[in-house]
This record gives sequence, structure tokens and C-alpha cells, in this order.
Amino acid sequence: MCPIVRKIVENVPDEVLKKDLERYRKMAMELGATDAKIITNDDIIIDDRTRMKCMYPKCPYYGSNINCPPYAPDVDYFRKVVKLYHYAIFITKEAPPEHYVGPNVLKDKTQVIYERKINEIVSKIEAAAFYDGYYYAIGFAGGPCKLQFCPDIACSALEGAGHACRAAIKAHSSLEGIGADAYRMATRVGWVIYPCGAQSEGVPCARGLGMILIY
Ligand code: SF4
Repeated sequence: MCPIVRKIVENVPDEVLKKDLERYRKMAMELGATDAKIITNDDIIIDDRTRMKCMYPKCPYYGSNINCPPYAPDVDYFRKVVKLYHYAIFITKEAPPEHYVGPNVLKDKTQVIYERKINEIVSKIEAAAFYDGYYYAIGFAGGPCKLQFCPDIACSALEGAGHACRAAIKAHSSLEGIGADAYRMATRVGWVIYPCGAQSEGVPCARGLGMILIY
């Protein structure tokens, strides 16, 4: 049965908002997140250096799709937008380190299964919040959408007017691509996180991250 669509109200009462946020948090867990937290806009850390890391050393997906820099919303715009929200749901999914670290992860695409899962959870919470009347709900995941949804075909959204993203409801900009320092945000909520690169020794676990701005 489809959930009931709620009417939009100018100001959502506090008790309704709190119950909804907790429901979205639990929903993330039921959908497969390892953990999910309700955070405020003060917990969203934005740092221009994050986007710089997409450029140097240049990620092979830089400029390959509308959700990655330089096409994704820029850091200053994201900074302004975040201030208009009060609450977000921050989610994580742990993964065995070999899916995220090692010299061949980008080539072997071993993180894709986890990044797609994060996108799926984010999409479902985004939709639930939208139909509950939080019509500005918007989600972000991790990693390039092109790797996850269009690995062997050109990004349709970059083809200009009249062309949409072929995975519009499923694909999101990455947190890192718009300037969110998701690593520091993870440490702030108590999630243990390691740098994931070619070197794997000493990395006991990896994690994907996503966030939905709700209200
Ligand atoms: S069409 Fe594919 S590559 Fe382009 S934004 Fe959508 S999911 Fe990403």
C-alpha cells in the first residue's frame, strides 16, 4: 500500500518534525545502513579543500557528469543552501576495506555495490520526506554517479537542454563534490573512519556516507 501523502504546512510543529526525523533515521537502518544520525546544520562541515581534492590529483570522473565538479553546485552555493535547513539525516554503511582501498579499487569498481546502496537509501528517505510535505528534502551520496549508473555511456544530463539524467531519482551528487567534509562529519558523530587510498595496511574497515537535508 502506498503511504499517504501529507499536505504541506507553513511551519511543521516541533513534535511532528522530531517524530519524522526519528522515523527517517530508523528507515535508513532498516534499508541497510550500518548507522544513521539526526544532525543539525551546525554538524555539516563545509571546506573548500574537499572539492580541490577532486581536481588534484584529477579524479578520472571530474567533468564527466553533471553531479561531479565542475558541474555540481559549487561550495559557496552549497554553504548558502545548508544554512536554510535545520536538520539532516547522516547515514553510513560499513564495508570490508578491500572494497575501498588498494591500488586497483577505481579500476575494479569494487566500491560500487556500497555506493549504489547508499544512493538507494538516500533516494528512499528523500522520497518519503518529500511526500510527508518536506518538499525541499534533497540527498547526497558518495563517489561519482557515472561510475555507479553510467559506467560505459556518456552522461545524458550533460547533453544540454531537453536531456535529463537517466538515473534522476537514483543518482546524487557526492558529499565531497559539493564541498562537504564528510570525513570530519563522520568523526564528529563518532564513526571511526580511515583515509582510503592505494595503501591498505592498517585499514580495518571502510565506510560509505550519505546525507539527506530534510527541513
Ligand atoms: S546521466 Fe548518468 S552520469 Fe549523468 S548525472 Fe545521471 S547518473 Fe550521473
